[in-house]
Amino acid sequence: MIKEPFLTKKEVEQIANNYPTPFHIYDEDGIRNTARDLKKAFEWNKGFKEYFAVKANPNPKIINILKQEGCGVDCATSVELELVNRFCSITGNDIMFSSNNTLEDDFRYANKLNAIINFDDIELIDYYKSLNLPFLNKMCCRYNPGKTFKINGEIMGNPEDAKFGMTKEQIINAYIRLKEEGVKTLGIHSFLASSQNNNEYYPLLAKQLFELIVEIKNLTGIELSFVNLSGGIGIPYQPNESPVDIIKIGKDIEKIYNDVLVKNGIKNIEIYTELGRYMLAPHGALITKAIHEKNTYKNYIGVDACATNLMRPAIYGAYHHISVLGKEKDEKTNIYDVVGCLCENNDKFAIDRTLPKIEKGDFLFIHDTGAHGFSMGYNYNGTLKSAELLLKSDKSVELIRRAENSKDYFATLI
Ligand SMILES: *Cc1c(COP(=O)(O)O)cnc(C)c1O
Repeated sequence: MIKEPFLTKKEVEQIANNYPTPFHIYDEDGIRNTARDLKKAFEWNKGFKEYFAVKANPNPKIINILKQEGCGVDCATSVELELVNRFCSITGNDIMFSSNNTLEDDFRYANKLNAIINFDDIELIDYYKSLNLPFLNKMCCRYNPGKTFKINGEIMGNPEDAKFGMTKEQIINAYIRLKEEGVKTLGIHSFLASSQNNNEYYPLLAKQLFELIVEIKNLTGIELSFVNLSGGIGIPYQPNESPVDIIKIGKDIEKIYNDVLVKNGIKNIEIYTELGRYMLAPHGALITKAIHEKNTYKNYIGVDACATNLMRPAIYGAYHHISVLGKEKDEKTNIYDVVGCLCENNDKFAIDRTLPKIEKGDFLFIHDTGAHGFSMGYNYNGTLKSAELLLKSDKSVELIRRAENSKDYFATLI
């Protein structure tokens, strides 16, 4: 597959006249279409809801687009809660609060907003109670099945190594506790592996959770009301990959729902998701300009963005496809490392990447930065976060976050 940029060279030149590079830009149509496809895939499930993982892209304009498409939000800290409440007027059961190692203020804020609090640990239930916070009508517990998570024999994740969630024994006791505290509506949440660009992950996870729901009902008489499949669906970062078939994923889960739950007399379980990457990653790009070329033991293209703007390559060695705008069809004749300005040798957007010959002034379109892109950034070496732009459905461009300046960087000094 060819990874096509959602902007042409000409369009980027025009945008860059008003907004200097580097910047992230997001494609409103793409975001809306993905949200609609997801909704369609689960339209068989009454009560289905996507709670967008705010950490993937915490821009209120983006969250408001998703809100218009019927999505809620998944938050993990009080600042994320404040963001969605103040800037997007989201409150109550439109918020899933999936935190871990939770701070006191974060529980207080989630309680104040009446969010669906998702307990990561049984001890946190005692902690919550010790804060004299009232238990709410609708609450959730996070499950960790341990072991490794395999698809067709291949290890995809290692839950046993993950700090998240409770064991089976703990979660059963947690539900008994929460029932005693008067919680009416209970759900289960689990996240076994991330970046799963396949059609199997979600159905396999759903099967485990549906079976556990049956087991819990048989053991305790407690009937859960919702299943939160959390995040984890991936996207094709590499040009040779294809996207997941979300309609098929929805259908496969429907079948398991009928086979496991309905057959055991359990109906009306609502399905929730907390997707971040799947919703946003392909619909964002980092636009940066080639500013230097250096030839030593390797050939380097220096660009005006750095790991501050996109950390995934530096910290995970993640692949992000790069299109040299205007040269999409040119022969790939050169091998480059594409680098930023940080005094860290991992500040490379690409290593030994085959690309068309790059001239100074060329615009590079770094694909798939819509999730875990801007939001992961830091300020190392006194580098500053870029602007964020929105390419709207009418093709106009709106500034949805200005670039940082040195005043922002110094603002916290006394
Ligand atoms: C990060 C996270 C998500 C979103 O993960 P993606 O891989 O972006 O889909 C969802 N839920 C929780 C609890 C998370 O920590």
